Amino acid sequence: MVNPTEVRQPTGRPQAATGGASRQFHTSVLIKPTSSRCNLDCSYCFYLAKAAMYPWGDHPTLSLDTFDKFLSQYVPMSAPYLTFMWQGGEPTMMGLPFFQDAYRLQKEHARRVNPVLTPPVTNSIQTNGTLLNDDWAKFFKESDFLVGISLDGPPDMHDQFRRDRTARPTFDRVMNGIEVLRKHDVPFNILCVVNRVNVEQPRELFAWLVAQEFTDIQFIPCVEPAEGAHSAEEGITDESITPEQFGEFLCQVFDAWVETGIANVRLRWYDNIIQRLWGFPSEMCTMSPACGYLVLEHNGDCYPCDFFVQDDQLLGNIHNTPLREMVGGRSFIEFGQTKAKLHDECARCPWLSLCYGECPRYRITASGSAEHTLPYFCESYKRMFSEKYPELERLSIESGRTLGLAVQQRAIPADERTAKRTPSFEQVLEVAKRSRTGRNDACPCGSGRKFKRCCQRQV
Ligand code: SF4
Ligand code: SF4
Repeated sequence: MVNPTEVRQPTGRPQAATGGASRQFHTSVLIKPTSSRCNLDCSYCFYLAKAAMYPWGDHPTLSLDTFDKFLSQYVPMSAPYLTFMWQGGEPTMMGLPFFQDAYRLQKEHARRVNPVLTPPVTNSIQTNGTLLNDDWAKFFKESDFLVGISLDGPPDMHDQFRRDRTARPTFDRVMNGIEVLRKHDVPFNILCVVNRVNVEQPRELFAWLVAQEFTDIQFIPCVEPAEGAHSAEEGITDESITPEQFGEFLCQVFDAWVETGIANVRLRWYDNIIQRLWGFPSEMCTMSPACGYLVLEHNGDCYPCDFFVQDDQLLGNIHNTPLREMVGGRSFIEFGQTKAKLHDECARCPWLSLCYGECPRYRITASGSAEHTLPYFCESYKRMFSEKYPELERLSIESGRTLGLAVQQRAIPADERTAKRTPSFEQVLEVAKRSRTGRNDACPCGSGRKFKRCCQRQV
């Protein structure tokens, strides 16, 4: 299943920069301030099951003390790249005063690292939107938060699986939250879970999202083995979709996107492919060669990815294990390398340089193992690429031409399909414009630094 409040995948993979005693380790952090506690009860949410590890009866809540302790180690280690993603459960259940204090703490720690050139702090929050009001929106605007809203389409699609704890529909409350964000000019994107219902109506879904004037959309496919099954081979849950359905969905949505005009709507997955064809790194970990970022649970426990918040992946607790020890430890390093343990078919696949064998979680879903196995949606991607690659390439050539990028043609070998060269400064700026790179996003040049601290700074 998916986490209905799933935040955008991290934009930066961990990067170690050599520097002797002052060795830095840049990574983003995903924070679970309420653990899995949520005011909704979406039937496909995988994170709700974490209540078994962190029971709601204990009222899991991130304290400012724990956050302060984390910041005191994370900020000096990762500065000047300080990227925080708030997620749940439902993070807004913490209440606005907590976020105001947490933001103040972030700034204080950033200032401590460099009082003159204080590193910027980037925050994003993934929310179901139902608790938002004017005060929240003002705070998000003033503090430069990027907001992700979980919305599965119009009421007949959204309310199918996204209900509250008394089984009431939530669509109207989510749309109210969106209205409040719009009123205060807060930037937001839509995260849409592709489930058994909306997967059958890709064009209707896309047309509806466009009609709402949503311009930044991400689709996440829903799949989980059925209760008692060890893998999807033995059966999938009622909400889940099949690879065949998702392949059809990807193709149909792609066609609808092209008809709408790719410059008018940002569809994250396709945009990332085009960006890869231009020769730039993907901003999505699922389409990157390696895994790993940091997850901070409410009590200070740290993990390498929120799909792997489980006992055997615990890196340590911030109250008793130094953060540098966690990210330098064997489990974190081995976790990062798992993605590269490809199935033979992936290693030979013409689409490897775009797909990288997908997210290991979907390999586990398919077969029970993350190593040397095929992901559940492999067939969907193969269909999409084999049917739409020529069009994707044409779009990347066309849009690339206006940016002065010469994208290589189809005849080239797969591993060279994405251009391997250093882009010019002007090209980076154009790509940033095209992909709406924010000041605090990773710089498209691939340096791993924030845009405003890298190429944008030179403007
Ligand atoms: S397992 Fe890897 S690719 Fe999948 S979400 Fe986690 S870090 Fe990203
Ligand atoms: S399309 Fe399938 S075989 Fe090819 S790289 Fe992706 S997961 Fe592997």
